[in-house]
Amino acid sequence: MSFSDNKGVFSLAVIGGGASGLVAAISAARTAQKNNKKINISIYEANPRVGKKILVTGNGRCNITNTNISPNCYFGSKDLFFGVYEHFDNNALIAFLEELGLKVKTDFAGRVYPLSNQAASVLDVLRYELLRLKINVVCDTKIVSLKKTARGFLLNDEFFADACIISTGGKAASVHGSDGSGFELLKPFNIKTTPIFPALTALCVENFTKALKGIRADGEIAIKCAGKPLLRASGEIQYTEYGLSGIPSMQVSRAASEQLLLNKGKDVFAVVDSAVSVSDEELKQFLLSFARNNPEMPGEMLLAGLMPKRLGATLMSDCSLSIEKSVKCINQGAFDKLVNAIKHKKYKISSVKGFNDAQVTAGGISAEEIDFNTLELKKVKGMYVCGEIADVDGTCGGYNLQWAFSSGYLAGQKSVMEI
Ligand SMILES: Cc1cc2nc3c(=O)[nH]c(=O)nc-3n(C[C@H](O)[C@H](O)[C@H](O)COP(=O)(O)OP(=O)(O)OC[C@H]3O[C@@H](n4cnc5c(N)ncnc54)[C@H](O)[C@@H]3O)c2cc1C
Repeated sequence: MSFSDNKGVFSLAVIGGGASGLVAAISAARTAQKNNKKINISIYEANPRVGKKILVTGNGRCNITNTNISPNCYFGSKDLFFGVYEHFDNNALIAFLEELGLKVKTDFAGRVYPLSNQAASVLDVLRYELLRLKINVVCDTKIVSLKKTARGFLLNDEFFADACIISTGGKAASVHGSDGSGFELLKPFNIKTTPIFPALTALCVENFTKALKGIRADGEIAIKCAGKPLLRASGEIQYTEYGLSGIPSMQVSRAASEQLLLNKGKDVFAVVDSAVSVSDEELKQFLLSFARNNPEMPGEMLLAGLMPKRLGATLMSDCSLSIEKSVKCINQGAFDKLVNAIKHKKYKISSVKGFNDAQVTAGGISAEEIDFNTLELKKVKGMYVCGEIADVDGTCGGYNLQWAFSSGYLAGQKSVMEI
């Protein structure tokens, strides 16, 4: 056992060396230095190396944050997010990373990436800072038990710490280490969690038309349940063998996932608009006039200028229209049906891709358990939480890493200031 009181030095255990844990450890070490406090900081990481997930973020480019942070981009407890964000916002994050030597750039949508376009650059600068600050990194060490002692905490009945930070992530993408074990560690402490479910994932559609597999087409997806639109997003939709994928599917999957979990028995639909920039009436008039001017044209040419041919052919077939017969055979009523299929195609969602395919966990430690100013658990003195394990999740665009970094920074700082 490594008892801190042997040397009279305060010890802090950071459980989980992902985005939030790494920044928490750095922030704690810097705060201690600034305040002339002696402290031993250890990061316990289950993987052979820290920051494995960071390397796959943003398709290997790491979308660090976004210049447009707004309440619309967050779910779960927005109050918790903004309570923390005000201590360490996107500008503070960029300044923090630039100080470590990471130059960033911003794209047209406000997404911030490393100038190198390499997620590895983010991890490299964070790892060097751990080294510089002499933070103890203990890899290949999964923490499976956490006990409160008279003075602090005992991890795996082996490591002692005066304070600890739980930064184990949630349950999404367990291949990178976040397997939900953080929730298990909290069980003895009776900490309330909101229901967790996968978000930023793909949508599985009942009886999906296999012919659509492989198509990529611009469009908008709206999630509807009991006739109510819940969430919508547009961009390039990827049609797969099981349903809908791509950024818009990921963005709306949270609403579908939540409804399927909480509203069992109610049908949930993805309504796809494949011609977003025109109204139903404009589209109808366009198609009518095109068909009127080209009466002998085969049906398949009617939508050829609007969307990928295979998507057009499937929508025509859904309306019982022939792609071979000339368009003069199409009657007025069929045009209404076709416009409806193009702009309001309903797919019944059977499920969403699970935690293993999801980028983020929705739900987690309930905000009511957490002191917003310090991220300490109200019921357990000396235990702090940060990152995805808490009930905050964001849309695609750098919002989840911003939360991980902001919360990590605050938890690290406060865990030391409370000494
Ligand atoms: C493919 C993919 C792409 C993404 N891209 C982006 C993006 O570009 N921008 C963005 O904002 N967000 C992105 N995200 C989401 C973002 O990566 C996460 O929200 C963020 O990493 C969460 O940080 P965290 O520190 O809470 O958890 P994690 O990063 O998951 O880190 C948790 C760490 O704790 C370790 N651990 C878990 N349990 C234990 C235990 N019991 N003992 C010891 N160690 C443990 C894990 O091995 C892991 O290293 C992406 C996610 C995925 C899966």
